[in-house]
Amino acid sequence: MISVVVPTLNEEDGIGELYARISAAAREWPDREMELIIVDDGSTDRTLAIARELARADQRLRIVSLTRNFGHQAAVSAGLNHSIGDVVIVMDADLQDPPESVGPLIEKLQDGFDVVYAIRTKRKENLVKRTLYFLYYRLLRHLATLEIPLDSGDFCVMRGNVCRAICELPERNRFVRGLRTWVGYRQVGVAYERQARFAGEAKYSFSKLVKLGLDGIVNFSYKPLHFAFLFGVTVGILSCIAGAFVLFQYATNWTVWGFNPRQARGWTSLIFTLLFSSAAQLFCMGILSEYMGRLFEETKRRPIYLVKERVNFQETKSTSDRSTDCETLESHSLSLERQ
Ligand code: UDP
Ligand code: MG
Repeated sequence: MISVVVPTLNEEDGIGELYARISAAAREWPDREMELIIVDDGSTDRTLAIARELARADQRLRIVSLTRNFGHQAAVSAGLNHSIGDVVIVMDADLQDPPESVGPLIEKLQDGFDVVYAIRTKRKENLVKRTLYFLYYRLLRHLATLEIPLDSGDFCVMRGNVCRAICELPERNRFVRGLRTWVGYRQVGVAYERQARFAGEAKYSFSKLVKLGLDGIVNFSYKPLHFAFLFGVTVGILSCIAGAFVLFQYATNWTVWGFNPRQARGWTSLIFTLLFSSAAQLFCMGILSEYMGRLFEETKRRPIYLVKERVNFQETKSTSDRSTDCETLESHSLSLERQ
């Protein structure tokens, strides 16, 4: 079965066309069953009503209606959680990701890949948005500890076991394209031209985009905190040296560039106190930031590894068994205890 997951927010003008085009594309995969999961992310227009009407006539269309707007990434996650296909497709409702381009992605999957993600070669959006996207993806690649592919969004085709592995990651701030990279497996990108919106306005406000961008960087990069550590320690050491120098200058009555600290009463003690207290703070902040980074890694509770296959083990687990191929920290420590 192929599951098509579509997050929607106020897409009343496009949802009929989306359904028609996905149904038409599905005729290209006659040997496969299809389920279309529309996740309604708290639409306030007729999106849900139209989807219900369509679902009445077609059992393949399933609707997951959220109680309010939880955001695109939450809606994608809800759709992935409800999908049952052994191939799962994620696409937007605005037809910017054309259903007709899914065929080549599925074909690529048959070449032995587990995830085929779409890379946007051209975008039909305004120059400012295009430039910001371009810069963001390059910044993310520079900062992230993981190589998140450039210019690829959530539009992709993946196998069911990859979908399950993503769903089992317990972190709450979800940057799905990052998690998809994190789980590993054999992944490949295929280029496509991103179309203009079929109807309506973009539902991602600027602030939502900033939040998504920050989730990408903060959830997948430790570097800003490590930078805080290096900065704190470096400036802390320099402040210590400067403080010691001021004290030395006072003690030896040394004039440097025409200035002698003894000329200004109270200057030496003030500057010395200032430099040493800021050095102490910067040191401590640097150390704290390293602990915070590690704490953050722990609170995300991602498994420490995922196993794809076991060979010659008594209970060899099949890779298609989605619930068992994602090893958690607990199961790892249990197996250590048994040894
Ligand atoms: N969307 C959603 N919840 C939101 C924002 C967007 O489900 O809070 C859906 C929207 O209906 C669309 C997809 O997510 O199907 C992408 O949104 P949009 O087209 O606004 O993003 P852009 O293409 O501008 O990045
Ligand atoms: Mg869009």
